[in-house]
Amino acid sequence: MKRDLYTPDHEAFRSSFRTFLTHRALPFTEEWETVGVVGRDFITEAGRQGYLGFEVPEEFGGLGIRDFRYNTVMAEELVDTGAAGDTFTMHNDILTPYLLEQTDDEQKKRWLPGFTNGEAVWALAMTEPGAGSDLAAIRTTARVDGDELVLDGSKIFITNGSSCDFVIVLARSDLAGGGDRETSLIVVEQGTHGFERGKPLHKIGRRAQDTAELFFGECRVPRSNVIGIPGRGFASAMKNLPRERLSMAVLAAASAEKALALALDHTRERQAFGGSLAALQSVRMTLAEMHTEIRVARSYVDRCVVALDAGELTPDEAAGAKYWTTDLQCSVIDRCLQLFGGYGYMEEYPIAKMWRDARVQRIYGGANEVMKEIVGRALVDR
Ligand SMILES: Cc1cc2nc3c(=O)[nH]c(=O)nc-3n(C[C@H](O)[C@H](O)[C@H](O)COP(=O)(O)OP(=O)(O)OC[C@H]3O[C@@H](n4cnc5c(N)ncnc54)[C@H](O)[C@@H]3O)c2cc1C
Repeated sequence: MKRDLYTPDHEAFRSSFRTFLTHRALPFTEEWETVGVVGRDFITEAGRQGYLGFEVPEEFGGLGIRDFRYNTVMAEELVDTGAAGDTFTMHNDILTPYLLEQTDDEQKKRWLPGFTNGEAVWALAMTEPGAGSDLAAIRTTARVDGDELVLDGSKIFITNGSSCDFVIVLARSDLAGGGDRETSLIVVEQGTHGFERGKPLHKIGRRAQDTAELFFGECRVPRSNVIGIPGRGFASAMKNLPRERLSMAVLAAASAEKALALALDHTRERQAFGGSLAALQSVRMTLAEMHTEIRVARSYVDRCVVALDAGELTPDEAAGAKYWTTDLQCSVIDRCLQLFGGYGYMEEYPIAKMWRDARVQRIYGGANEVMKEIVGRALVDR
């Protein structure tokens, strides 16, 4: 079966993005993993070359290309080359809809040029020490004081947390007369008095991506920093989740494919019992099972990408794609690592890094159990 998701334009884009990663990311990947953050000059260069926020209309500095297939090409190339960091996923898949669809014209003029030219790194802060899966339990507040909002509280596990120039914060804030049940999305700029970051958190994987705790104490921001409908922050954030979850599914399918390709090469070459590992029937069966499972995943994910672009992807379809493909990703990578034997457990083998990096996919963006709840409820309530 031939894959028919892409046009020649997407393939041309793939080739230029791959060249960009090969020259600008791969030589530095190890260094970024060691220092725990992606190089700032790389992000600026990515912006300069049009790889950040390309959906943004030209008048605000973007390319005006609204086609999620370009995002998926990027994800596939990031996985295939092994380039580190979640810069593109965060910027293009997760943050773009917030900055494009939830902002007014004044805010667009203020923030979008820096977002697309790579000068400004953004983050999205929803999770708190006491509220992760159960986001309705968040305690960060934004009290109204004249033309200002005063934020108090903390957020945890925030991607780009230590390097960001701007962070979108989900906080309780009575902006529409609904009391403390209301939430809003509020942009806080680095350097704002009362906004502090904790030390970067040490993770078992995705080490080139900084993740931090954020603190807000009497942190004052103008009311004009509210994005989305005031008082409807939670609902605004929910709107973007199918796209965010599909992005994880795309990465999951690509990672499983890459792991299988590595395992195939290895088992064809590795000699044991008078032949290659791949000549052993049980190894071939393991390879065959993974190959088939990945093809099934790929078909579903590609179909979801088309549905997203058509505005038809439902929250439960995206949740199903997220949990099923990230479970598969971890299971495939684990089976592939096994086929590498002791070599698979060595840091210099890419499969080892893939194994470490994969695990969080089943946790963030909504734990997989929560995804099943979404699918289950949609099924039962239908
Ligand atoms: C590397 C990393 C990056 C992250 N980046 C961000 C970010 O940029 N912004 C942000 O806001 N957040 C971010 N997060 C937070 C992430 O989204 C949360 O960790 C996730 O939503 C789970 O919340 P929790 O950790 O509080 O786990 P909990 O809510 O305490 O859940 C723990 C476990 O309990 C089980 N569970 C929970 N609820 C249910 C349920 N309803 N049914 C059945 N089982 C359930 C699941 O197994 C779950 O894994 C990041 C996390 C990590 C690890």
